[in-house]
Amino acid sequence: MSTVFQKIIDRQIPATIVHEDDRALAFRDVNPQAPVHVLVVPKSPIAKLADAKADDRDLLGHLLLVARDVAVKEQLGDFRIVINNGAGAGQSVFHLHLHVLGGRPMGWPPG
Ligand code: AMP
Repeated sequence: MSTVFQKIIDRQIPATIVHEDDRALAFRDVNPQAPVHVLVVPKSPIAKLADAKADDRDLLGHLLLVARDVAVKEQLGDFRIVINNGAGAGQSVFHLHLHVLGGRPMGWPPG
């Protein structure tokens, strides 16, 4: 069954898209945890980071650079990139995604 992110990629449900290329899509989180909260997803689904293969190395690097580019475009000086891996770490959508968060001070450790 396709995830909500696959449905966004396939344009079956709407999202506010801020970046698209041949391998990645970035869109605003529907429940933002910071003034800027964007999700970066690969178009070819990987359920979670732990499932990534050595062949995914270029894709993973690409996603990180897209996340950086989104942060620059959103004029975030400081920002945080988060990947939740598994339900116990807070993952709720099992299509790999990077959270780009910024626009407010970030505490540490995260919850
Ligand atoms: P995670 O908990 O790391 O799996 O993150 C999933 C994120 O997806 C959460 O921050 C949700 O708010 C977000 N989300 C769920 N459904 C949508 C949607 N339709 N459009 C945008 N963001 C969504």
